[in-house]
Amino acid sequence: MIEIKALTKSYENIEVLKGINLTIENGSIFGIAGRSGAGKSTLLRCINGIETFDLGTIKVGDIDVGSLNHEEMRVFRKNTGMIFQNFSLLSRASVYENIALPMKCWKYEKKAIDKKIKELLELVGIPEKIHSKARELSGGQKQRVAIARALTMDPQVLLCDEATSALDPKSTKAILDLLREINAQLGITIIVVTHEMSVLRSICKHVAIVENGTIEAMGTTDKIFTQR
Ligand code: ADP
Ligand code: ADP
Repeated sequence: MIEIKALTKSYENIEVLKGINLTIENGSIFGIAGRSGAGKSTLLRCINGIETFDLGTIKVGDIDVGSLNHEEMRVFRKNTGMIFQNFSLLSRASVYENIALPMKCWKYEKKAIDKKIKELLELVGIPEKIHSKARELSGGQKQRVAIARALTMDPQVLLCDEATSALDPKSTKAILDLLREINAQLGITIIVVTHEMSVLRSICKHVAIVENGTIEAMGTTDKIFTQR
């Protein structure tokens, strides 16, 4: 379970998260919606430890994220994979090299890296692209590579920051189907941040609406959208 209590975060003197309370069940696909600038990305970055926060607590399973020292944080960050709107791939590097990156950081042996990459490319459905350059791929294929890279450390949580916002409707649907499959097959908790209501309706059972740094509404997707 991910449990966030009274979370606040400021940049300079501007408070962008103003007391967020949120509980996300293990194994669920949870949506976070809201206008641009509402604080959604900041919230995700606090959950995976890239960003520090001011007050409140974030617990991921038994781990109290705010209490980790530098080395503990490095290990904790294996627990969460993240994907982005712009894919964040090295465009001149191959699919293999992109996915290998986190494993090289953790000094995995080449044999283990090769095996993992093969498995992950099967999972995301583009095994034949292993030697292609990232820049030669379509948007949907790039996001598949990013998903594979995000899964290399066997995370418990996958954070998706506007992951389909740069994709056409057909690729969006394919990526959402893949996320659903990853959730079902691997039991990974998925948090989907998006401004696209259709995406939430399609894959999230529960959603929270963030507005101006606070949770404006929360509940089942059906309930939230019949109220709006
Ligand atoms: P969203 O993801 O909902 O669009 P963000 O979390 O990106 O919102 O941003 C929330 C607010 O925090 C915005 O006003 C944004 O300008 C500000 N902000 C985000 N990142 C930074 C940063 N690194 N430094 C200063 N302000 C930031
Ligand atoms: P309520 O009926 O209290 O407004 P919901 O209808 O949204 O709330 O959901 C009922 C309960 O389901 C919530 O209280 C919550 O504890 C639980 N729940 C199940 N799955 C999740 C999830 N993925 N994230 C958050 N809560 C969940």
